[in-house]
Amino acid sequence: TGVPTGTFTALVADTARHALLPVTGGSTTVPLVDGTSRVYANLDYAASAPSLESVTARVAEVLPLYASVHRGAGYLSQVSTALYESSRRAVAAFVGAREDDVAVITRNTTDSLNLLAGVVPTGGRVLVLDVEHHANLLPWVQAGGAAGSATGRTATILPVEPTVAATLASLRDELARLPYALVAVTGASNVTGEALPVEQVVALAHAAGARVVVDGAQLVPHRGFSLAATGADYVAFSGHKTYAPFGAGALVGRRDWLDTGAPYLAGGGAVRDVRADRTVWQPAPARHEAGSPNVIGAIALAQACETLAALPAGALEAHEQVLRTRLVDGLAAIDGVDVVRIWPDSTDPVGVVTFTVAGHNPGLVAAYLSAEHGIGVRDGRFCAHPLLARLGASEGAIRASVGVGSTSEYVDRLIAALTSYLAYGP
Ligand code: PLP
Repeated sequence: TGVPTGTFTALVADTARHALLPVTGGSTTVPLVDGTSRVYANLDYAASAPSLESVTARVAEVLPLYASVHRGAGYLSQVSTALYESSRRAVAAFVGAREDDVAVITRNTTDSLNLLAGVVPTGGRVLVLDVEHHANLLPWVQAGGAAGSATGRTATILPVEPTVAATLASLRDELARLPYALVAVTGASNVTGEALPVEQVVALAHAAGARVVVDGAQLVPHRGFSLAATGADYVAFSGHKTYAPFGAGALVGRRDWLDTGAPYLAGGGAVRDVRADRTVWQPAPARHEAGSPNVIGAIALAQACETLAALPAGALEAHEQVLRTRLVDGLAAIDGVDVVRIWPDSTDPVGVVTFTVAGHNPGLVAAYLSAEHGIGVRDGRFCAHPLLARLGASEGAIRASVGVGSTSEYVDRLIAALTSYLAYGP
């Protein structure tokens, strides 16, 4: 307060020269083709983000102590159970869970959305846009396909319109045309970083009697998210994109479907009583967590959530926006490089930028960036084939994405490397 905006912006621009939070392996050097090595410029946070140092330290602390949860009578089992359940609470709190919401620890976003697809009430229709990651497309389509004939569920894939406003209008019309149980929408595209305004989608869906699940894989780690504040019914996200190691994610949201729907996995821990002629299942979350859970993964994810939540308000967004703007401006200044967008009127995309290089194979460009400059980007169709086709990039594109460990030096290195590639060739 009281600090002139210009000063604040300059301050943030300056601090983007440094990581916002220390990440494990943040100064790893990688070999280049000329025999030298350079610090790895990780511009692939949208795929998997490195672990925060606080997460690595926490894992090292609990690794010697873990034991089976929910079963053992021993002291370490009790400690592990307490840690696992407090991690669940921390994960739920991080996404603004309401008092009645339930948090299921899953493997990742894909797992969370498949789980939810299995508990949509019989006959419930699901509405999804055609810009989604396959993880937020295929579970619903599958539910309406071969599996759907058994469950009676059907899915509609609605094409987006050229603007956010027109897409919201089309969503409203479709919700009026047919009764839907659920609208599945991205919180931030893994290709362009864009999204529809969640609150408006929730308002339209709820007015039509439908629930909303937000695919938070790219949103939760980069902006934070609140079920309570947005009114969304469910959110799914992944630990490995939220600065914790692979293997743990979460589905958080309304209890009723999760308490009564089909158990995600059948096995020990999910049942209350098993007889030869009947099985009595637990309510959620145990109902969907059969087998020994990923205790260390949940603790790591909770630590990441707590570290991110402790950042000063606005710091995460400011850091990533400075880097995104630098990236987009730098790319726009290179002849032949085109940044792709879904909607010209979308606001505040997260730090994910996808571009094409006219006349150049994205795989070769990405390989050059890695081999000659130690820059890690992703190329291909990013598990979003319908969207890439819509964007006119069916042959693939290149994606650069940032996070708390990225710095402006990484961005500048990418821009310089691309400029030199186009000027002189690989
Ligand atoms: N949704 C979005 C928007 C994503 O970016 C991703 C991963 O790239 C997923 C879902 C799937 O995440 P996971 O592979 O962790 O299940």
